[in-house]
Amino acid sequence: MDNIRKELIDSSERVVIKIGSTVLASRQGINQMMIDSLAEEISGIKKEVVIVSSGAIAAGMGRLSLKDRPKEIRLKQAVAAVGQSRLMWAYEKSFETYGKKVAQVLLTREDLSDRRRYLYAKNTLETLIEFGVIPVINENDTVAVDEIRFGDNDTLAVMVTNLLQADLLLILSDVDGLCTSDPRSDSNAKLIDIITDITPQIERIAGESSTIEGTGGMFSKVQAAKKAAQMGVATAIINGTRPGSLRDFFESREVGTFFATGKDRLSLRKHWIAYTLKSKGTLTIDEGAKRAILKGGKSLLPSGITSIEGKFGVGDAVSCQDESRKKIVKGIVNYSSEDLNKIKGMKSSEIEKTLGYKYDDEVIHRDNMVIL
Ligand code: GLU
Repeated sequence: MDNIRKELIDSSERVVIKIGSTVLASRQGINQMMIDSLAEEISGIKKEVVIVSSGAIAAGMGRLSLKDRPKEIRLKQAVAAVGQSRLMWAYEKSFETYGKKVAQVLLTREDLSDRRRYLYAKNTLETLIEFGVIPVINENDTVAVDEIRFGDNDTLAVMVTNLLQADLLLILSDVDGLCTSDPRSDSNAKLIDIITDITPQIERIAGESSTIEGTGGMFSKVQAAKKAAQMGVATAIINGTRPGSLRDFFESREVGTFFATGKDRLSLRKHWIAYTLKSKGTLTIDEGAKRAILKGGKSLLPSGITSIEGKFGVGDAVSCQDESRKKIVKGIVNYSSEDLNKIKGMKSSEIEKTLGYKYDDEVIHRDNMVIL
């Protein structure tokens, strides 16, 4: 088993390292010593490194002497603005000691949902990497409201892995990894060294051992590993607060939990459709269409659609459900909700007559569709 770990780590060229709030900040604010020690270890990694860092809100709380994490959105946004510059200052100082340059990149989910902005972000990040600069990415909390949020930085880190085609995702947390049960309540809990298949049981264990601090907890980390696996990318969860853990990891010593998964590989584009795009509506499809899609690998035609929920435009992502409301696929539509309401149930040959134009026979082409 350990050979798999070593093989996947050694063969990786580009790694996304997600650093959680609990690793680098406490209620008092940023822990500069921790960032120093991480910067030293990261500077020693002989691979292209991209950092996804949380900690803006925690750092802002420290600066503004707030005792409790703000709940109201406008407070969170303001606190994050104060904290983000404090956070970057800490990274600047620490990395400079090791002769490395860093750059701040703030993203919202909308930036990565729009194909053009996705490509702009990609080009900028690729250019930074060419310069030998380490990008430090965070969610643009100051403008992010719930509808456009990534949710948590574990999710953001997966999207960055997709954006940059990284081949390893490393999640630094304040726990050692995923245990067989919750170590806080079970003294027999053992750290799981390697996971080759993310089974429902693994997901259940993760759900039960979420930490209180931070946004995501273990559940969102395992979900991130699962999504990364669908790109053929291995993920590791390791304890970032333990000095030397990054060095040990890259020397393939047994630290943390390693997810050596990735059999069912989705193309980068399909992965982007499945996980980065937000669904703007739902189409209910009949049994015939469901069979044609799942068994025959076919596109979705208007004739198979029985009802439409939501308001969406051409090029938006929607989910398709069967008549028992089970989600089947997600894909990009060729027609707006308004037009689909007029052509649902019709044969493709009737589209032009009804709408006065025809973009395509298919409502969702199979190349723009992912099975869920
Ligand atoms: N963007 C948030 C921050 O910097 C953190 C989100 C998360 O940790 O998931 O405070």
